[in-house]
Amino acid sequence: MRIGVPRETAPGERRVALVPEVVARLAKAGHAVVVEAGAGAAAGFPDAAYAAAGASLSPGAAEPLGAGLVLKVRRPSPAEAEELTEGAALAAFLAPGQDAALAAILARRRVTAFAMEWVPRTTRAQALDALSSQATLAGYLSVILGAAAMTRILPMLTTAAGTLAPARCFVAGAGVAGLQAIATARRLGAVVSAFDVRPAVAEQVRSLGAAFLEVPRAAAEGAGGYAAELAEGQRRRVAEALARHLPAQDLVITTAQVPGRPAPLLVTEEMVRSMRPGSAVVDLAAEGGGNCACTRPGETVEVGGVAVLGPLDLPSRLPTHASQMYARNLLALVEVVAAEGRLVFDPADEIAGAMALTHAGEIRRR
Ligand code: NAD
Repeated sequence: MRIGVPRETAPGERRVALVPEVVARLAKAGHAVVVEAGAGAAAGFPDAAYAAAGASLSPGAAEPLGAGLVLKVRRPSPAEAEELTEGAALAAFLAPGQDAALAAILARRRVTAFAMEWVPRTTRAQALDALSSQATLAGYLSVILGAAAMTRILPMLTTAAGTLAPARCFVAGAGVAGLQAIATARRLGAVVSAFDVRPAVAEQVRSLGAAFLEVPRAAAEGAGGYAAELAEGQRRRVAEALARHLPAQDLVITTAQVPGRPAPLLVTEEMVRSMRPGSAVVDLAAEGGGNCACTRPGETVEVGGVAVLGPLDLPSRLPTHASQMYARNLLALVEVVAAEGRLVFDPADEIAGAMALTHAGEIRRR
């Protein structure tokens, strides 16, 4: 199958859909890969590496966008979507449910478009799970950014100049990003605690060497193992527990999300002001409105001497590894939908069927 990789055009996006190592594997499996010149440059993958891996390089986007299967990180612009070949396939983070205009173009062009956001969270689909691969990196980087924004260090230090106590780090939301944040903060020597509304994660939190903040009757588990929104009484109990816990924390990482809902507000301005000056809050939910009342998406603000970071698209700041993991996710997708050298789409397939946003002229819903 002819697979196209255009250069990403979204502002600030440094990732690339395929890395040379994965191009080589696709070429070995009989696919012809065409990559737009410069597509991997910002992620540390020069054109020569793609050529050596067996890709052909194209000076513009037209050729890769015209391929039978187009692989991207971010969703195409309307103009890019219009350039797709009628009846071709596309895989990218398509923001399903948020960009009706794009879905309409893709349906009109009879594109089979796979939304990476819709990879089912099942064991069989794990290799395709780009939400997890990218969230893992975001969780790691959140701790690094928070540590750099603090005026104290994370580990305990005993020196001739005295002893420094280890920092305390609290992680709200122990999903994929939160668990990686816990592991990273632990490795850097912080004393870590965490909270999640899914009681099942308490064991995973403890196995990483962190304490689980117990909040009585605050469990809220919804469909598919995801969190549900808290009821009013639960919200109050969580707020009271956090108000008691946060004054002693030096670094707070928030990652709480409820699918289909705005990010829950967990950290109030009063809680931020209760932390010691020189502390930091890193809000990974900034894109969905934020878990902290002080968060300004994409910015760092200072509140009572506490830095509040609302970084957007952290994986793009680690473009080499983010692209490497994303490309592996896409390779697994190609193995599902194009194993026989052409697109084979079965709407009943547990993976491909769940991921298709548009097919045969129709917009599909979840
Ligand atoms: P997510 O990004 O949707 O949410 C992050 C975390 O925030 C979740 O752990 C959630 O429980 C938590 N949260 C929501 N509201 C909260 C609140 N008010 N207070 C505190 N925490 C709150 O989650 P995710 O990282 O994408 O993971 C979602 C689920 O999918 C998890 O159950 C995870 O284990 C599961 N998962 C399964 C697979 C697989 O089996 N292949 C892969 C990845 C994730």
